[in-house]
Amino acid sequence: MMRLPKFTYRVPKKVSDAVKMIADAGPDAMFVAGGTDLYPNMKRRQQTPRTVISVTRLRELHEVREDAGGGLVIGASVSLTDVVDHPVIKRHYQVVADAARTISTPLLRNMGTIGGNLLLDTRCNYYDQNYEWRRGINFCMKKDGEICWVAPSSPKCWAVNSSDLAPVMVALGAKLRLVSSGGERMVSASEIYNNDGINYLNKRQDELLAEIHLPPRNGLRAVYKKLRRRGAFDFPVLGVAAALDLDRDRTVRSARLILGGVAPAPVEVKEAEAVLLGHQLNQERIEAAAEACYLKARPLDNTDFLMNWRKQMARPYVLRALEALYPEGRDVESRHSFDV
Ligand SMILES: Cc1cc2nc3c(=O)[nH]c(=O)nc-3n(C[C@H](O)[C@H](O)[C@H](O)COP(=O)(O)OP(=O)(O)OC[C@H]3O[C@@H](n4cnc5c(N)ncnc54)[C@H](O)[C@@H]3O)c2cc1C
Ligand code: SF4
Repeated sequence: MMRLPKFTYRVPKKVSDAVKMIADAGPDAMFVAGGTDLYPNMKRRQQTPRTVISVTRLRELHEVREDAGGGLVIGASVSLTDVVDHPVIKRHYQVVADAARTISTPLLRNMGTIGGNLLLDTRCNYYDQNYEWRRGINFCMKKDGEICWVAPSSPKCWAVNSSDLAPVMVALGAKLRLVSSGGERMVSASEIYNNDGINYLNKRQDELLAEIHLPPRNGLRAVYKKLRRRGAFDFPVLGVAAALDLDRDRTVRSARLILGGVAPAPVEVKEAEAVLLGHQLNQERIEAAAEACYLKARPLDNTDFLMNWRKQMARPYVLRALEALYPEGRDVESRHSFDV
């Protein structure tokens, strides 16, 4: 049985106390929410904070509300179960609830939070192993070692962003409110992820994620499709988040296509967006966008399934996502439809 290492546990009740605690505790401290990612990582000695500061008692992090401009604000400690079921979230952005429903298992969704999901550690077959297993291969660059076993000549780590909600939040143009003892700032979801498996967040260790702000939907259509081995539960080995704003005549006013599970950060496929923007959504355009995503997806051999197959699956999954966004346009053939 793997045991947690010894650590100091703090449970602040106010945001101001939480950010002061982490500032006082220094670089060896981490926040924890549901702990469904952090505690297994601590048991495997992948992450080894000396002080763990719980955000579960911070009341304002549990709120879901509409803001004055018609947007949606979700507190970082709202559980995934509540995200799945929350009527206000579903009314504004059903896609957020749908993506949350695909995360892990019902029990883990009761504990896991939306904030923890967005800040999930990156994953890799050579890293998500116990200490003895990792010691057996002399560790790797992400923790305790020097080499990357996936790409031995690479100067950087390619561990994968495997959050289901990260690509969705990037596609929707979400902003994150970060608070520290030095003040607070808003950062867009597209800016917070860094394409480096070790330094995967553009966020300081002492910054608390307080809220996720989503803009007013204004007719935006959005969908998330996930590829995984088991339908019951599994991390994504490919996630496709698509968000389109269509005119009445189906002309695409805005488009965002984001791939998850294929790189250390969610990948925005601007080439696919350019294929759609300003054009009528039709089968030809949809297939061209899917092709652009296929070309851009470059998964490596560090998660489940063969990497070439995962790359090939980008095409049908983008097709499925775009077809789902325009079900009334049945000129789009349904020959690509199959179940996850
Ligand atoms: C068996 C299993 C299956 C899983 N399947 C999936 C899956 O399919 N898809 C998926 O996306 N995830 C999956 N997960 C991962 C995890 O359960 C979820 O991502 C969950 O949402 C993490 O939330 P948490 O609150 O438990 O995070 P925690 O473990 O508490 O924290 C995760 C990270 O976020 C940081 N953090 C948390 N809250 C804050 C905050 N407010 N401010 C600053 N930092 C913070 C922590 O320091 C830590 O680095 C799985 C986990 C397990 C064990
Ligand atoms: S991608 Fe390379 S450095 Fe990163 S966790 Fe995997 S083996 Fe380690």
